[in-house]
Amino acid sequence: MSLVVTGTVSIDTVATPTSRAEGVLGGSCTFFAAAASFFTPVRMVAVVGDDFPEHHARVLERFPAIDRRGLERRAGARTFRWGGRYRENMDQRDTLFTELNVIAERPPEVPPAFRDSRLVFLANTHPGVQAAMLSAFESPSLVVADTMDLWISTTPKELRDLLARVDGLVLNYDEAEQLTGLRNTVAAARRVLEMGPRFVVVKKGEHGCILVCRDKGAADVSIAALPAYPSERVVDPTGAGDSFAGGMMGVLAESVPAADAPRNGGRGPWPAFDTLRRACVAGTVVASFTIEAFSLDRLTTLRRGEIDARLEEYARMLRV
Ligand code: AMP
Repeated sequence: MSLVVTGTVSIDTVATPTSRAEGVLGGSCTFFAAAASFFTPVRMVAVVGDDFPEHHARVLERFPAIDRRGLERRAGARTFRWGGRYRENMDQRDTLFTELNVIAERPPEVPPAFRDSRLVFLANTHPGVQAAMLSAFESPSLVVADTMDLWISTTPKELRDLLARVDGLVLNYDEAEQLTGLRNTVAAARRVLEMGPRFVVVKKGEHGCILVCRDKGAADVSIAALPAYPSERVVDPTGAGDSFAGGMMGVLAESVPAADAPRNGGRGPWPAFDTLRRACVAGTVVASFTIEAFSLDRLTTLRRGEIDARLEEYARMLRV
């Protein structure tokens, strides 16, 4: 089923306790699309400025399953830029700067050929832009969004309006607390479900993630807890969350028979909880590769066979 993502394509500067990468390719849309492309064709809709380096554009070309017709290079505009520094534990990070630049202007155009996309992922960007983008798709079967601290604090109203329109939300543990005022992950997730989505994935960095899903008509929720893949080589966690989402949505796009696609199709909500859980496993594993190098460096050399081998290893680790 056709998958589309919209979010940021960025020029990042990342510092870790032991090294630093300046002016590298990043962005929520970028990491998502690269990760999803291992599982399914993915359409990207984003905008960069005319300062976007040619060598970054060439990195994207190394992912043949990414359809880049929706990547606009806007004359006279500057690309979104972000800088972050990781603390000693490599799990917590401080944002050093966010230059919205082109993403504070009008949203990118959704190519007419993309308007029939059935799975829509609204990667991190201004929630007003996410909402405008969402309206451009004719009849999505599944809409999932991501958000982060900046938007929760600066655009709460737009974010709440958006949440009422999505089926799923992925966000970090800290952000779930910021959004709901609740420290307990499950309690926070339940509160998010009251805001609109049917499922929420709360990511907890090296501690994995928690999926909380409300089934149609069910009084209570289903919950799954998945550990992170225990990585020995963590060079740069940037993009782990977006890669997680890319793997998750990529598997959803590929694993669900078309007959299940319409919202429910009379057979209960789609995707089913078990499908979502399997999708989260794929997200966990792809993210574990992203963090092995700066930017998209690891993803550009990654092969599907390596993902499958690690999926098997991860499944063995989970056996109890
Ligand atoms: P993650 O580590 O998964 O949270 O994703 C980090 C990526 O998101 C970086 O490559 C940044 O360029 C991008 N990013 C950082 N802040 C924002 C923001 N406020 N909105 C959209 N994208 C962002």
